[in-house]
Amino acid sequence: MTKLSIVVPEEMLVPVPALPPATSTPSPPQPGSFRPPRCSSSANYKNILTHLELHGNGGKNSSWMETIKASSPTHVRSVPFLPNAHSESDESDWNKRLPSALSRFDEITTAAKGKKIAMFLDYDGTLSPIVDDPDSAFMSDSMRLAVKSIAKYFPTAIVTGRCRDKVFSFVQLAELYYAGSHGMDIKGPTKLPKHTNAQAKAVLCQPASAFLPVINEAYNVLVEKTKVFPGAKVENNRFCLSVHFRCVDEKIWNGLAEEVRSVLTAFPDLKLTQGRKVLEIRPTIEWDKGKALEFLLKELGFDDSNDILPVYIGDDRTDEDAFKVLRDRGQGFGILVSKFPKETCATYSLKEPSEVKEFLRRLVEWRQISLKAEHRVGVKRN
Ligand SMILES: [Mg+2]
Repeated sequence: MTKLSIVVPEEMLVPVPALPPATSTPSPPQPGSFRPPRCSSSANYKNILTHLELHGNGGKNSSWMETIKASSPTHVRSVPFLPNAHSESDESDWNKRLPSALSRFDEITTAAKGKKIAMFLDYDGTLSPIVDDPDSAFMSDSMRLAVKSIAKYFPTAIVTGRCRDKVFSFVQLAELYYAGSHGMDIKGPTKLPKHTNAQAKAVLCQPASAFLPVINEAYNVLVEKTKVFPGAKVENNRFCLSVHFRCVDEKIWNGLAEEVRSVLTAFPDLKLTQGRKVLEIRPTIEWDKGKALEFLLKELGFDDSNDILPVYIGDDRTDEDAFKVLRDRGQGFGILVSKFPKETCATYSLKEPSEVKEFLRRLVEWRQISLKAEHRVGVKRN
């Protein structure tokens, strides 16, 4: 395939730093004093990433291990990315840097007064727990009910790295927008809730269609080459690939990543990024979850509107693209799902999916109360 002449923005790409030889033994992280500032600009974010590489134990060779662990803090054997991250003072500091969306709920609803909320939700680690088998990342019935309830009142989209059909099989709600493959495969609701008069729409956007043959070719090679790494699982998300290493021994993480990087040298139209216990392979086009968010806002008719309050909830580095879009627009809020301090462009935090569910539940309750109050005012006027 001819390489497209589209520039990929470096700023928000998550780098996969140069790896040590596959045979080297990774060193454990050492205590340090770095605390990530909140991202205020793309340059700042880039500096942070550079800082992370430079401050990994032993320098560059361990930086990949550091960033992997930073992205994957749920592993019981992983050392927290920030030393003493569990101490009370650091937790307090983290809460000050990125307050809880639950404790600041009134602040959020105050900002929402007179505006229409549009809800964007990542899936893994946000609506479902991170589990060893990515095919078993089911969401609970109570979470499904919370998402269904929120979609009754606000346009709601799932934005995920997963294949769109796969995430739909998990969520099973026809009234949502689905942006799969990191937003490269967007489909509208097939059943529209009452709050909209719009027509149900089919596929809305597939900017990476031309890459399908090369993605499938890379998938076949990766499946073959990763067979020697017990626990590794390659997932074909249609417009992107995921190499999961949730079940791979940490001792061979470097070797696995080196193999993946080696395979990709034969595929210049694909790029490598990383997430929580996963290596992501995507086409080299300027498209990510942030672009998907902008596309959906436009699709919903809110592109130039000041009456919209987008809320994006996600737990992964790929969600930072969407958080940054909201911050740059000065519109809405990004909410990072994390128990641990991380560098982020989000405004608020929630610790885990159960808190996401509680946040959605409270938002529905708030909206119901607001509607009743509006109805009472309408009755009095008439
Ligand atoms: Mg996620």
